Amino acid sequence: MAMEREEMHADRGASRRDCRERTMVRWKKRIETAETGSWTRIVIPDLNAWCYRRYGLVDFHLTQMLSGHGCFGEYLQKRKRRDDPGCVDCGAASDDANNVFFRCDRWSRKRRSLEGVIGREFDPKTVVGAMLTGSKDWDAVQSFVNIMQQKREDEERDRQRAEAARQN
Ligand SMILES: [Zn+2]
Repeated sequence: MAMEREEMHADRGASRRDCRERTMVRWKKRIETAETGSWTRIVIPDLNAWCYRRYGLVDFHLTQMLSGHGCFGEYLQKRKRRDDPGCVDCGAASDDANNVFFRCDRWSRKRRSLEGVIGREFDPKTVVGAMLTGSKDWDAVQSFVNIMQQKREDEERDRQRAEAARQN
């Protein structure tokens, strides 16, 4: 996540082309080596099309969706911030980016309405293709991701506070 933020800042100073090439090299490296690189490979099957898009800033929550690093049970458990990797909403054994954005029952209504806007099934293999169809589709996906992930983060913070209060 830090890497992506760094790139967004770098964007302002460096020339566009330069920045994109650097970004692409970094993404490639990350996808090839990162522990959740296999997830990123699924959601970004065409790195070239991704890096050379003409619009679309990758914000904090979108980075979480694309990297699989963020407010997800599995990720939090690995970092010892939670005991249980499961989803508190639907009970899935593993709460990861795939569960949260694409499977979890809690968000199925919002997901259906997003599918209405982008005119296709919302799926890990096709989500970025949809975002690259046009900036309206990009914005629709981004807003879906922002709304639900923000809510989940708020709730996670409350849970951790309640947990800390219980232990004191
Ligand atoms: Zn769930």
